[in-house]
Amino acid sequence: MAGRYDHSQDDQITFETSDSVKVYSTFDQMGLKEDLLRGIYAYNFEKPSAIQQRAIMPVIRKRDVIAQAQSGTGKTATFSIGILQNIDTAVRETQALVLSPTRELAQQIQSVLLALGDYMNVQVHACIGGTTIAEDMRKLDYGQHVVSGTPGRVFDMIKRGHLRTRQLKMLVLDEADELLNQGFKEQIYDIYRLLPPSTQIVVVSATLPHEVLEMTTKFMTDPVRVLVKRDELTLEGIKQFFIAVEREEWKFDTLCDLYDTLTITQAVIFCNTRRKVDWLTEKMREANFTVSSMHGEMPQREREAIMNEFRQGASRVLITTDVWARGIDVQQVSLVINYDLPLNREVYLHRIGRSGRFGRKGVAINFVKNDDVRLLRDIEQYYSTQIDEMPMNVSDMI
Ligand code: ADP
Repeated sequence: MAGRYDHSQDDQITFETSDSVKVYSTFDQMGLKEDLLRGIYAYNFEKPSAIQQRAIMPVIRKRDVIAQAQSGTGKTATFSIGILQNIDTAVRETQALVLSPTRELAQQIQSVLLALGDYMNVQVHACIGGTTIAEDMRKLDYGQHVVSGTPGRVFDMIKRGHLRTRQLKMLVLDEADELLNQGFKEQIYDIYRLLPPSTQIVVVSATLPHEVLEMTTKFMTDPVRVLVKRDELTLEGIKQFFIAVEREEWKFDTLCDLYDTLTITQAVIFCNTRRKVDWLTEKMREANFTVSSMHGEMPQREREAIMNEFRQGASRVLITTDVWARGIDVQQVSLVINYDLPLNREVYLHRIGRSGRFGRKGVAINFVKNDDVRLLRDIEQYYSTQIDEMPMNVSDMI
């Protein structure tokens, strides 16, 4: 048994982009419905990103698809455009289901679908935990073309017969490696078993470790693969640094010293536990710094209020857990601090990917205790990237 980072299986199988994948360099070439194309341009997308150029069409052609691309390069719109093209809005039944690991992400995907589908009269429902069950049932009974949800609530709604799966044609697993992880895997299979056998499966993430790719062979049929190589995964635009804080006790002062840098645009600070988030928030506030915080133990209403505040830029510094590591898209975030180093390398990539969205500049700063040095070097090596000591002029890079 290897340590926390298990390299043993890395090179046993090579998954690559399928040869048949064609590149469509404009949205016009994709033969999309007029009202969808209008929604795409109205949302200010001019040209498809690399993953969109390659993966939208296989989704539309109803192939099973495995799509991997760096954080912030437009994976959400990839499957959203595929979904919107293939649903029939004249049939008010759920035709596509998107599953994500967090409520915030499920809601964000709902907004993207609604925005791109603005001229299509499409019903999209966010089916997530922490909200009223009665309301969920009412909206589902009314009929929704697309459901974007978290596994627990979605399963519940299917079992109770409110989320009807008869017309379902497509299942998307966003952040698929997280959904196929121990915590969620059983729930995903439970849902999968209740879907029509011919359901198209689309699997998406920035990180798809080999064991996950292997797992997909069990529930996908001859999938089209659009994959990026591991050493191309970290984004050019995100500069990564470390600060040698040596000991835990010195992290706090280091963070306070960085506060002016944090507020240049917006920043996200990651801790490894909810308790630590609460503790750090408290301590920053005692020292008269303005910070917001969010984690999975807070009531849903509060989570939503904090998300809205942060999205609108009303708060600039957010202290949080890995509930925020994946998928969340706030373009103004240009700085990520790992107050604690993450315990696995996939999470590292997702966390730093909260900055530098869609080619913007980003900076990630890792607080490194003496006994974290090996962990950091391991990440650096795994992604063939460079993490230097933080320079004095870091503010200029944000
Ligand atoms: P990912 O899912 O790969 O992390 P997102 O789909 O959240 O990335 O996209 C990141 C950001 O880029 C979003 O703000 C999105 O609106 C924007 N974006 C996506 N595709 C395009 C495009 N073709 N043109 C311009 N902006 C885009």
